Amino acid sequence: MRRLALALILAISARAAAAQATAADVLITNGTLYDGSGTPGRRADVALRADRIVFVGDAKGAGITAARTIDATGLIVAPGFIDPHTHAQPDLSSASRRTNLAYIMQGVTTVATNNDGSGPVGIGALLAKWDSAGIGTNALLFVPQGSVRGAVMGMSDRAPTPAQLQQMRALVERGMREGAFGMSTGLYYAPGSYSTTEEIIELAKVAAAHGGIYDTHQRDESSYTIGLLASVREVLRIGRDAHIPVHFSHIKALGADVWGDADTVIAMIHAAQREGISVAACQYPYDASGTSLVSALVPRWAEAGGRDSLLARIAAPATHARLAGEMRDNLRRRGGAGAMLIVSSRQRDLAGKRLDAIAAARGTEPVEAALEIIRTVGDQSVASFNMNAKDIDTFMRADFVTTCSDGSDGHPRKFGTFPRKIRDYVLDRPVLTMERAIASSSSQPARDLQIAQRGRIEVGWFGDVIVFDPKTIRDLSTYAEPERLAVGMKWVFVNGKAAVENGVPTHSLAGRALRFTK
Ligand SMILES: [Zn+2]
Repeated sequence: MRRLALALILAISARAAAAQATAADVLITNGTLYDGSGTPGRRADVALRADRIVFVGDAKGAGITAARTIDATGLIVAPGFIDPHTHAQPDLSSASRRTNLAYIMQGVTTVATNNDGSGPVGIGALLAKWDSAGIGTNALLFVPQGSVRGAVMGMSDRAPTPAQLQQMRALVERGMREGAFGMSTGLYYAPGSYSTTEEIIELAKVAAAHGGIYDTHQRDESSYTIGLLASVREVLRIGRDAHIPVHFSHIKALGADVWGDADTVIAMIHAAQREGISVAACQYPYDASGTSLVSALVPRWAEAGGRDSLLARIAAPATHARLAGEMRDNLRRRGGAGAMLIVSSRQRDLAGKRLDAIAAARGTEPVEAALEIIRTVGDQSVASFNMNAKDIDTFMRADFVTTCSDGSDGHPRKFGTFPRKIRDYVLDRPVLTMERAIASSSSQPARDLQIAQRGRIEVGWFGDVIVFDPKTIRDLSTYAEPERLAVGMKWVFVNGKAAVENGVPTHSLAGRALRFTK
């Protein structure tokens, strides 16, 4: 009897669902669907209603009709991409750039930001601001540990007192309560670099208690301080001791000293996973990182106390000599002055030039030229060509590696990452299959960041859906023109609303400020 009642209820609710689906807002037909799960493409139609996916399958057979039908013949239908590492916060908070066009035109419908341990500490206020102003993509936040430390201890390189540690814990706790998805660090950068592993573990435990993750720009991606492999071990230890899933931001082997270490890093991570630690990573498909002159060349001890202290150390002959000596080694590590390109500078004589050319024009050597620039016009954004193609391929093939842009001004990755991965690593060169490239840009980052009901094409999930042309998809952004929008996205839906229609952006603000819930 009870089974009969259950069958009846199921039949009624199935009919109700079918009735809802037949009245869809948007029907995407005849496309090849990659649903994000990593399975190969298949012929399937997708229907959207309000902010949800309401049907996947054979629309004709199921009698689905919709207010708008899109013929996706020859096109690929996929979940909207999810970028676990961006610096989109200023854009999302800006009246003129909150549509997040750089990402929308790549098919990215959700971005994480406040990575690298930097960004506003007030999570709730920022999310509320986005709620009221509107944003073009969905967005989520991490509690930025570097900013937390800065708020409590300034640029001090000392260990925190028990009271200071308690204050930092309280800030992380507040951020998590206000909706952050975890805590981010930038242990390469000051002031995060002044934190010991133990200090980070104490704060990561707070994020873990709320179910969040630990996202890190690790202490050393190269041979600067503890070295790449010891740095990887530190991240894994934080995961183990704080009982928190760890996420390596922009995994790489930076500089000739560590080229070829990708296989070793992958083996270490697989071993940690077998041990039960949850480990993931993301990667951008470029051989140059985006950083700044100070971050790339100046040792952290010289930054302690802030810019005035740095300037005093540059001016004093004794510290100047030590500083310049260490900077020469850092420049060598990164491939020399010819591998350091100044980008997006307001200084005409600097923008688009490499440090070797700048030094030659000034009749000085590269490190002295860099110090002069830092002293007189301030820190400059740079593209630092320091990765090799083999390591990039090796990391990309690893099963735990997803796609992230780390988008920053002046580097083409902000406008090009996702289409570039498909163009260069799937279509032009068979590094990945299409289904793997799509899964690593959608369901996998959703799982790693614990984003609910996004990253896959599934009935009942949010209507973040993209339709792109595999014949034309590509990045157009370059180091000379980093802000050229990508091409090939025909339709981009964010929460069921079109952000791109037939290749043209609508400038809609259908994104949502996402709050983490366990
Ligand atoms: Zn970073």
